[in-house]
Amino acid sequence: MSVIYNRVALVGLGLIASSMFWAIKRKGLAGQVVGYARSQETRDTARRIGLCDVVTDTVTAAVDDADLVVLCVPVGAMGTVAKQIAPHLKPGATITDVGSVKREVIESVGPHLPANVHFVPGHPIAGTEHSGPESGFAELFDNRWCLLVPPKDCNPVAVARLRSFWEGIGSNVDEMDADHHDLVLAVTSHAPHLIAYTMVGVADDLGRVTDSEVIKYSAAGFRDFTRIAASDPTMWRDVFLTNKEATLEILGRFTEELFALQRAIRTGDGDHLHDYFTRTRAIRRSIIEAGQDTDAPDFGRGQSAS
Ligand code: NAP
Repeated sequence: MSVIYNRVALVGLGLIASSMFWAIKRKGLAGQVVGYARSQETRDTARRIGLCDVVTDTVTAAVDDADLVVLCVPVGAMGTVAKQIAPHLKPGATITDVGSVKREVIESVGPHLPANVHFVPGHPIAGTEHSGPESGFAELFDNRWCLLVPPKDCNPVAVARLRSFWEGIGSNVDEMDADHHDLVLAVTSHAPHLIAYTMVGVADDLGRVTDSEVIKYSAAGFRDFTRIAASDPTMWRDVFLTNKEATLEILGRFTEELFALQRAIRTGDGDHLHDYFTRTRAIRRSIIEAGQDTDAPDFGRGQSAS
């Protein structure tokens, strides 16, 4: 694969930016990758592990002469960063982001940007519960979806170029309207995270009364919840604060379904439970068939648990 952007700036150097960097290097997608993070500690770590060709001490130096600027900070920080970099952007540059919520990013970043740059918001649907500059790896985006949310009047050449870039990184790319994106992600990611946080919180309360048996005898189902509930608190706080309506809509539906299952258990309605679980099992099968997860027992961790 050949160079798609001469100079790429990664603003924020956590899990997503570091994974992007290693994937960009794997395929030689950029002439030079420049990185910036707000803390000295993260910048020092990045320099130590060779994350980015150049790490700058100011955000303005990072975006200077960049052909592509990728905002890789929590959703709640995107607007502030956009305001800082706006006067320093190269005319004709493409500005994108990796934020998990799209309407909020469009509204908080868009107004700061000059008219002579192309703003193409994006969201790679790939992640882990780890964060920080040392958590990234080149394969994170392989065969995962990256959703681009270009505004209607966006330059199609800039969108096509960004699409090729993400395909070079390893993703399958699709385009979507911002509100639709936020609703879909509320179902597939945001509400499940909140449920996992809640379940682990409930178990933690219970753990205190059962002398930590919850941790000691932790079974596969609960361990999967704990993995999700270990995700970065700042990132997820921002997701819920900025995708409020869609998340509340899905949680409302979730509560209704939960009550229906609760009633089925109370009334001994085994048919209802069996039909429900048969339907959900088919969804799991279709995710595996689509290549979006592994069929290995216990997600390939090689440990058995009840
Ligand atoms: P991360 O590993 O926690 O890294 C976040 C980076 O943003 C760090 O470099 C941090 O700087 C910087 N940062 C944090 N708060 C900031 C602020 N107020 N102002 C400026 N910089 C700030 O996060 P990540 O997982 O890479 O997530 C980055 C973005 O990707 C988020 O918008 C998230 O929604 C999105 N995303 C995440 C996942 C996932 O699973 N993790 C998946 C898809 C998309 P310091 O290191 O200096 O503190």
